[in-house]
Order: sequence, then C-alpha cells, then structure tokens
Amino acid sequence: MDQDQLTRALFPEASSRVALVRLDETWQAMLERHHYPPAIQTLLGELLAAAALLASTIKNDGRLNLEIRGEGALSLVTIECGANGEMRGLARWQEPISTEGDLQSLTGGGLLVMTTETAAGKRYQGIVSLEGNSVATVLEHYFRESEQLPTRLWLSTSDQRASGFLLQQLPGEREADSWERLQHLSQTITDEELQTLPAPELLHRLYHQESMQMLQPQDFRFHCRCSAERVTRVLVSLGRREMEETLEQEGEVKVDCEFCNQVYRFDEEDIARLFGDPNEPMVH
Ligand SMILES: [Zn+2]
Repeated sequence: MDQDQLTRALFPEASSRVALVRLDETWQAMLERHHYPPAIQTLLGELLAAAALLASTIKNDGRLNLEIRGEGALSLVTIECGANGEMRGLARWQEPISTEGDLQSLTGGGLLVMTTETAAGKRYQGIVSLEGNSVATVLEHYFRESEQLPTRLWLSTSDQRASGFLLQQLPGEREADSWERLQHLSQTITDEELQTLPAPELLHRLYHQESMQMLQPQDFRFHCRCSAERVTRVLVSLGRREMEETLEQEGEVKVDCEFCNQVYRFDEEDIARLFGDPNEPMVH
C-alpha cells in the first residue's frame, strides 16, 4: 500500500489541491548507489519527495528537474522526474561536511532552479535564491515569488522512505476562508503520520469535513536515462582527437554515469568504429 505512489485529490470549492507521496524502492535505489553524509541524505530525500509532488502536474512526456545549487561545501542536489514517474538524482559535495548542517550552512546560500520541459523540448525555468532553512521553506518561497501560487509543503525522510505532502492553491474562485481552513487542517499532520499512515486514512483524518475529489494515483520508480547510445553521442561530440589522446594515456575510454554508477568502456576498436573507418589505424 502506498509504496512508490502518489495520492492526490482536489478541493473544488476551495480551488486547491493536495498530494501525498511515499517513495520506497525509488529512494532505496538511490541510496544503494551512493553513500551520502546524513545531512546531505536528508536534503536529497526531501528534494526527491518534493520533485514527485511537483511532477504530478507535468503532462504527457514532459520532464521536471529540481535543483539546489549551493556555493559552499554542498554544490548540487539534483532530481529529475519524467511524467512517466521515472526518477533519478544525486548530490555533489566536498569534504569535510558537517554532520548536522542545515540547508544554509551546507550550501552557503545559492539558488533553487526548477526546469520543466515539454515532450516537444520546450523549456521553462524558474530560479529563486535559497530563502529558508529547509527544502520545504525554500520551495514555499519559490511558489510565492515565481508562480504566485500559495503552497505548503511537509517533507520527511528515513533510510527506507522519502515522504512528502503538498497543499497548493489552483487558479480560480474559492469560498472565502477556504484556504485558511485547509491550511489549518493540514498543519496538524505529524511526521509519524506523514511517514506511516496509509494515504486514505491520512486524508480522511485531515479533511473528512471537506468536499474532496480523489484523482487517479500515480506510480514512481528509479530509472536512469543513461545508455551506451547517449554516451556514444557525447564521445562523438568531443571529437576524435580527444578520444585518441585518452586512449593513448589510459588505454581505454571509460565513462561512469554519476546517477547510477553504470560504467561504459570503449577500447581502441570501439572508438575507431565511432569515427567511421574501423580498419584505419587510429594512433600514428
Ligand atoms: Zn545512469
């Protein structure tokens, strides 16, 4: 129940929406591939849950990319999510990193960047400075500044699960005081409920007096978009000379995917094939 799933509902009279997500295998797949210091693991899990909550509005084959770009020891936390629910993400940092650091002390300030891309390749990007000391407050600030959509977020992570809860206004007319009432009801959610209470029970506990319309749930999973074909395209774009130099120095061209740790190796023959004539000797 609820595993790697997003539950969502509308409040038609309040022109608002609510979404609850629990990421289990998706989250564990990311933790299996990299060891993160605890403070960074928490930020990564919170950004993962937030991206799933926000990706539930992207259409068809669109994609969402949510990034924290820091200026301090933590330079990047990035999460990608497709409309099909495929997610991947990573963090980049430099040691030493404090074990209890909050968002501001880890990043030393920086930016939140949200990019959505349509299936046709059209990109929209919103950027705000990192205001606030948690992923939730930074995103609430983003929606206030950049989208003018009042939004509340609650995020919680453990080694097993990344959970998130979102309450957001939608454009349109609303009953007077309905937003205040929903906020008031929502903020009684506890960390424990967010992590463990089954979604239907949680929504019932919070909103049983409201008129609420359930929408189709959405599934998520870890999937990395890297492939031999994509790596090949990058190598070709770098050019034959650079590949020849690497071959000469290292004996092979080796590419590691930072998201999933997949290793792609190319020997002299592979590289020769990439650049056309397989019979012609590469190194003179
Ligand atoms: Zn990969």
